Formats: sequence, C-alpha cells, structure tokens
Amino acid sequence: MTQTQEQPVSTGDTPFVPIEKIVSLCKRRGFVYPNSEIYGGVSGIYDFGPLGVELRNNIRRFWWWSMVQTNDNVVGIEGNIITHPRVWEASGHVENFVDRLVDCKNCKRRFRVDHLPEENLRQNKCPVCGGELTEPRKFNLMMETYIGVVEGERMKTYLRGEACQNIYLDYDNVLKSSRVAIPFGICQIGKAFRNEVTPGNFLFRQREFEQWDLQFFVHPSEMQQWFDYWKERRFEWYKSIINHKDRLRFRPHGADELAHYAKQAFDVEYQTILGWQEWEGIHWRQDWDLSRHSEYSGQDLSYTDPETKERYMPWIVETSGGVDRTFLNLLIDAYEEEPPSGKDKEGRTVLHLNPMLAPIKVAVLPLQKNKEELVATAKELHSKLRRVMVSQYDDVANIGRRYRRQDEIGTPFCVTIDFTTLEDQTVTVRERDSMSQIRLHMNEVPAYLLERVRWDYKV
Ligand code: ATP
Repeated sequence: MTQTQEQPVSTGDTPFVPIEKIVSLCKRRGFVYPNSEIYGGVSGIYDFGPLGVELRNNIRRFWWWSMVQTNDNVVGIEGNIITHPRVWEASGHVENFVDRLVDCKNCKRRFRVDHLPEENLRQNKCPVCGGELTEPRKFNLMMETYIGVVEGERMKTYLRGEACQNIYLDYDNVLKSSRVAIPFGICQIGKAFRNEVTPGNFLFRQREFEQWDLQFFVHPSEMQQWFDYWKERRFEWYKSIINHKDRLRFRPHGADELAHYAKQAFDVEYQTILGWQEWEGIHWRQDWDLSRHSEYSGQDLSYTDPETKERYMPWIVETSGGVDRTFLNLLIDAYEEEPPSGKDKEGRTVLHLNPMLAPIKVAVLPLQKNKEELVATAKELHSKLRRVMVSQYDDVANIGRRYRRQDEIGTPFCVTIDFTTLEDQTVTVRERDSMSQIRLHMNEVPAYLLERVRWDYKV
C-alpha cells in the first residue's frame, strides 16, 4: 500500500513527462474524458473516448491472450460486481479495508498516513504548509449498495472492492466443471470500486477502475517455485510493452507491510514524474482466502489430489494489477515531444506505443482529396485493411499534418496513395518511430502490416 517517496531522477535522454500533458492529450484526442463533465465532474471517475476504448480493449485482450489463452494450466472467468455481502466479511474488507487519514489543521489538506514522508509523520507536520496534523482517522473504502426494492427488505451489500474475490467463489465450480488439476490458475479482468479518500493523479487512483488478477492454486510444497515463476513472468510481461525498461523495478514489501500469512510480496513499480509507483502486486496468499471462505460459507474448499488422494487446502500465488494504471503508464512511457529535425521540420508529438496495443494500426491517406481515383483507391484499400485490423481513412489537410495527427495518437503505420499508385499499384508505407518510408505493392500491404501489429510475447 505504500509508495516510495524518492525524488524522481530522469534516466537516459528522455525527461519525465508532466501528467498535465497526458491529461491534455487524452482529452484533445479522445482517449479519456472527465466523467459527467457537463455537471462539473466527479473526482476520481473517468470515461474513455473513441481512442481510449480501443487502447483499453487492446490492453485487456493482450493480457487475456498472454495469461489465459497461451497457458494450458490457466482458465478465465467473469464474475459479477455484486456478490453476497458475507463475501466481504470473510475477506476482511468490511472490518479492515480502511485508509488511515490525517488532515492539516492549517491548510485543510488531507493525506493518507501510508503516503506521508516519514519525516512529516514523525514531526506530525503537513508536507505542504508545515501545519499541524490531526490524529489519524479510519475510512472504509467499500462502496455500499442495496439489493431489492421493498424498503425494509432490502439487503445491503457492496460493489466489489477488489475483483479477485470472485475467483475464490468460483474456484470449486471451475474445479468441478473444467479439466483442471493443481497446479492451475484462474484469471479475471473486472471492475472494482473503492471510495478512495484521496483519488488523484489522473487514472492512477480512481474510485471505479478495472483490475486483472491471476490466482494460481498450488500444493504448499510448491509455493516458492510458483511464486518465483509468476513474479518473473509478470515482470517480463510489463517489460515487453514499455520503451523505458530502466523505469521498471521490483520493490519487496517490508516486514511491516506483509500480511500475517505472507512470507513475501513484491510490487512491480514504474517510475514517472510522480516517483516510483505500484503497477502490480505479486502476493503470497497461502491458504488464507480459501480457508476463510470455507469457514464463512460452511463449504469445504479443500482439494483432494486425484492421484495421491492427499487432502489439503491449496495455497495461492496472486498477481494483481490494473487496466487503468497500465493505460496511464503506457501513455506516459510512449509520449515524446520531438524537436524539429531534418526528418520533420516542425517537430512533432509522438506516442511510441507498442504497435500491437496502438488504438489505430494503420491510417490510409490519399495524397489529395479532390482526385477521385486517389480517393477511390485509398477507400478500397482501407476497406480491405479494416477487416483484419483497425484502419482509419483520412483525407483532411495536407499529408504532413495528417502524419502528425497519426503520430500523436500512436498509429504505427500510414499508407499513402499517390499518383504512382495509379500507374503501378504501389503505395508508400511510413513507419511512425523512424519516419522511414518504403514502397510496397498494394496487395502486399495487409500481410506486411499484420506481421508487425500481431500479438507478440514469448510464451
Ligand atoms: P495502492 O497502494 O496504490 O492503493 P493497493 O496495494 O491497494 O494499491 P491492490 O489492492 O493490490 O492495490 O490492487 C491491485 C492493483 O489494482 C494495483 O496494483 C493497481 O494496478 C490497481 N489499483 C488499485 N487501486 C486502484 C485505484 N484506486 N485506481 C486505479 N487502479 C488501482
């Protein structure tokens, strides 16, 4: 739960991107909008626009493909947001899912105790104005809701505070209905809700967000080996989708942060202008979750080994991250303002997004929009391409401006139809990062692009 309060130091040649630039790009180009903006908005809640929804879907699909569809011992589920309220008693959320907060008596700012620099905590001093802080108070983060319509008969429950509980709830059904045996994992992507008292930093800390979890069930004697395995796999996964590999690290949890059942835990952290921040947690959950749900539900969730007939409560390795932090970190990681150069005299803003995750894979551009044959040929290629990837047709403004528009949203390829195309059916394919251009026959374009935008992860 803690963040490291180090001053960020920019590594390499690229400076850290101010978050405001990402917020502005997101709004301007249709990635992210403040929710209910016409009513003044709600802090910590956002909507995703036309490009944002494409990027989100790609991020989700890539995780699902690399975690579920390419692992024979992992299956997926989609559990509901609303569950029986007892779930949250068993999980400990009703009692313990709290943030401890202090207020500054002078400037009235509010801080999470676990986010305060140690110095300020010790001196009971506000990190902004130096004023005196109040005693810590506890706030429960669970969002309440009610099932039923008749007053008095309505059942109070919660919007799930973390998505992974569904996996424990469905564990027994998965075991009985699928051909899985320990060791195996269950994955899920889904919304979670937290009444965060200090939402902020754009998508980093929201009140409604989306998590992805793997819960991997093992024999206790194999816990360490599977923990190490998934820890490394998840780190490599994140490394494979970013440009600034040196901004990724593990942070081991200190003894004071570990849950009583956890031998160890690690956060995968990414460094931005905000410092090192958690991206995903790798947790040693032992038999805590299944034991608690066995106790609270009265259903025995222990496992019998089909061969040895040994009966035991499975232990769990958890990897828990989020779509939204991935979305934000990828934009921060990809954003660059390139100064004017020999290749581009005006300079440009470019998103160096991994091509497989980019919202638009290719833009098809007729050199001029008032030449019927150019337009017809471009539209024909566009309609061929959009059957296999997200393609955008654009004929507004000069070609340089159109390239820059696509660079700014991370489109990895632009295909230009010009007068030579009409003679020999070749087109110009321009690559976003290098801005290099090659000529290809039109018929070769779909296969050429598909090879460069397909899912790519060593499995
Ligand atoms: P933090 O210390 O930042 O509050 P946490 O330790 O409570 O995070 P977990 O409960 O382990 O986080 O959640 C797993 C993942 O879900 C996090 O690594 C993060 O990617 C994502 N996540 C958690 N809270 C939020 C939030 N409020 N907004 C967006 N994503 C979140």
